[in-house]
Amino acid sequence: MSTSKEDFSLPTTPDASAPTATYTASCHCGSFTYTVTQSPPLNDPSATVMECNCSICARNGYLFVYVPDERVQFTKGSIEEFKSYFFASKKMAHYFCGTCGASCMARSVDPGFFPGMTCVNVRMFEDVDLKTLNLKPADGKSYDPTTAA
Ligand SMILES: [Zn+2]
Repeated sequence: MSTSKEDFSLPTTPDASAPTATYTASCHCGSFTYTVTQSPPLNDPSATVMECNCSICARNGYLFVYVPDERVQFTKGSIEEFKSYFFASKKMAHYFCGTCGASCMARSVDPGFFPGMTCVNVRMFEDVDLKTLNLKPADGKSYDPTTAA
């Protein structure tokens, strides 16, 4: 199956009434622990997890979902305490633990570039069997956020 540019769609806010599941997640060393409320639950047949071929996702092995910012709740640490990495358009902050280096999440820092959504790395989730996930290829490599609407 080939991927096209159209396969890389920007996230949309889930329907507030849709079913959700809350997952516990952490970086490797435990400096950061947080919960992520995802809709639909990852074991729902309609749930998809993005596997992106862009330069950063390929290197970090990101498997991600987008959730509204308020559905990421820190129980230890905070998003400000992550180390952050920026590249290209510098619109996205890529957050990782400064101690263990785990790549946990990414969030736009540009209010005009899909604000309010956090890209969360599902690999940090506890009790999720990655082999059961419905992975969807995302062609981030061909996606240029500097020219997208
Ligand atoms: Zn850590």
